[in-house]
Formats: sequence, structure tokens, C-alpha cells
Amino acid sequence: MFRKVNVPVLGVVENMSLYHCENCGHEAAIFGTGGGDSIAEEYDTQVLGRLPLTLSIRELTDSGRPSVVSEPEGSVSQTFAAIAQKVAEAVSANQGDGPTISFSE
Ligand SMILES: [Zn+2]
Repeated sequence: MFRKVNVPVLGVVENMSLYHCENCGHEAAIFGTGGGDSIAEEYDTQVLGRLPLTLSIRELTDSGRPSVVSEPEGSVSQTFAAIAQKVAEAVSANQGDGPTISFSE
């Protein structure tokens, strides 16, 4: 859809990529693996990052204090920061490729 309206797609963020149990620390790919990679390949773009499925992201976000505020040094915050860095790089590389926006009365 974005391609049809000439909105550049910077990449794919795979959400709920890996379940992380906060009790024992084990991890499981409960929704499978490779989904983000296959979508990125299908649409000729990149995977910007993968966000884990953790209780803390939901709890902190719902409380109005997201991970990057509550736990700025935590692994979730570092993941968000890495994704933001890749988005910034992709935006920088795509300067001028965006849609033309015009206004009419
Ligand atoms: Zn567990």
C-alpha cells in the first residue's frame, strides 16, 4: 500500500519476535522465526530490528513510563535505540525519495 502512494518503506521492525520469560530468563520464538526477514526480502527492504515479547514492555508502556524512560540502560531500551539509529540512517539515505505533498483549496 505504501509503495502505491509513494511512501518510502525504510524497513521492517519485527514485533513480539522472541518471548522472554522474566521469571526464569528462558527465551522462545513462540510465533516462529524468519517472518521479518521474509517480509523484508519480499519488499526489497531491510530488517530494522526485533522487539522482544516481554511483560515489562507492556506494563511500562501502559503505565506511561516506557522502557526507554524507566530502564534507559536495559536491553529493551538498547534494542529501541538500535532500531531508532537504523531508522535515522534509512531516513538520511532516502532524502528526496518521499512523496510530494501539496495542498489545494
Ligand atoms: Zn520461565
